[in-house]
Amino acid sequence: MSVSEAVAHVAFLPSAGMGHLNPFLRLAALFLRYGCKVTLIIAKPMVSLAESNLISCFCSSFPHQVTQIDFNLIPMDPTTFNTNDPFYLQYETIRSSVHLLSEILSSLSKTLSACIFDVLLTSPVVSIAENLSCPSYIFFPSSARMLSFIAFVSVLAASHPAAQPHPSTFIGDVVQIPGFTSSIPRSSVPSALLLQGSNPFQRMLVEDSLNLMKFNGIFINSFEELEGEALAALNDGKVVKGLSPVYGIGPLMACKFENVDQGPRGCMGWILEWLDEQAEGSVVYVSLGSRTETRKEQIRDMALGLIECGYSFLWVVKLKRVDREEDEGLEDVLGSELMSKVREKGVVVKEFVNQMEILGHPAVGGFVSHGGWNSITETVWEGVPVLTWPQGGDQKINSECIRISGVGIWPEDWGWGSQDVVRGKEISNRIKEMMNNESLRVKVNEMKKAARNAADVGGSCEVFVKRLIEDWKKNI
Ligand code: UDP
Ligand code: UDP
Repeated sequence: MSVSEAVAHVAFLPSAGMGHLNPFLRLAALFLRYGCKVTLIIAKPMVSLAESNLISCFCSSFPHQVTQIDFNLIPMDPTTFNTNDPFYLQYETIRSSVHLLSEILSSLSKTLSACIFDVLLTSPVVSIAENLSCPSYIFFPSSARMLSFIAFVSVLAASHPAAQPHPSTFIGDVVQIPGFTSSIPRSSVPSALLLQGSNPFQRMLVEDSLNLMKFNGIFINSFEELEGEALAALNDGKVVKGLSPVYGIGPLMACKFENVDQGPRGCMGWILEWLDEQAEGSVVYVSLGSRTETRKEQIRDMALGLIECGYSFLWVVKLKRVDREEDEGLEDVLGSELMSKVREKGVVVKEFVNQMEILGHPAVGGFVSHGGWNSITETVWEGVPVLTWPQGGDQKINSECIRISGVGIWPEDWGWGSQDVVRGKEISNRIKEMMNNESLRVKVNEMKKAARNAADVGGSCEVFVKRLIEDWKKNI
């Protein structure tokens, strides 16, 4: 498809990590569905295999509509940064190479209708975005509640007497954001933000909080019925005055390009066969997302809890944060006796699975999740109740959303995944509570209907996308 044949030409700049890339490409697919041409600018090299596989599947699924441009990063010395997280190192590397982006974008600028940046690029791309002749947007892949928190950080910082106060001083025991019925306790604030000293996450968040205002709009994977209060507070200027419009274009649906088995040994075939043999609603699906390794101290109790809960289970376990580094068998960690008990009652895999396909299978009756926002919107889309076990970052704030909306439970006393080991008995009790709770099931099914209406023909998502494309055409 040539640019002149397309209704609009949109450049997309993702950052790093599946939790960002997956919904970002779903957003790109949404604009493709309405006849846009997409240029995908990819920072290379990428961190994980899962990411590079997904990008190739995406590009090969839309050979005529998508063009890929490599954004070759300038390598950085990992010791420069106070982080041992490869994803954070990648964000920093992208940040320090961002000047190279100007060149790429100016070569496209004549034909561009809009440019959409992942939220992790917010501050570095501000000056580039201001010089573009087309509107620029941020994609925020977490909840509207989390976006409100980040936007409100600038308000909190400005109301503190110190010139550049540390977040641990301007964030009090509770954060009460105007327009919200429930407050955010300090214990739910991403812990990296409260650490003494300075770290990349902290610097990024404080800086981004102010810079979010400098774009033409913010796309968010949420919708009215799931987060009406937060979306209204953001758009009515209650959270912070002058914030760009927030477009709730969620729920972003899984797309065909994801239906490619991404595990190196291809596990989805036999997982689906196994699920086919299980009774409807009888299986607990357990996954703590794409970048959370389960600590060795916790793995044993996790296994004990799953064995004891009495349900079959599909447990996707990560022993390392980055998939390329997985080198140890689960049996080495659990021992052969416990491992054989696990195998009697359920299925355990270490590969990257197709989560949407699993959640959509009728045998799956509950989800134990870390509370990553994609996992939450996906479980709502499929009408599967959830038990969240926040491991870090935005996950407690997201867990509060699911509790308010009634689609899941969040045992707050479990704390973060890095705190005390949660015992097997407790895990088993809470899984039973989720699986037996009829009101959760009713609520999540209502939310599933609302999610599908939002994404359907004439739904809120279509309304936003069509209106934007019309606005962009007027600019040309
Ligand atoms: N995901 C998947 N298979 C896996 C692990 C994750 O398909 O084995 C997908 C999941 O469906 C979601 C994304 O990766 O779309 C993870 O995003 P989320 O926000 O839930 O958590 P994160 O991985 O960023 O912590
Ligand atoms: N992080 C980092 N450097 C730090 C603090 C945090 O790279 O000094 C990363 C951390 O690894 C995590 C992310 O920032 O992936 C978000 O922080 P989170 O609140 O999840 O960290 P945690 O709860 O694990 O301290």
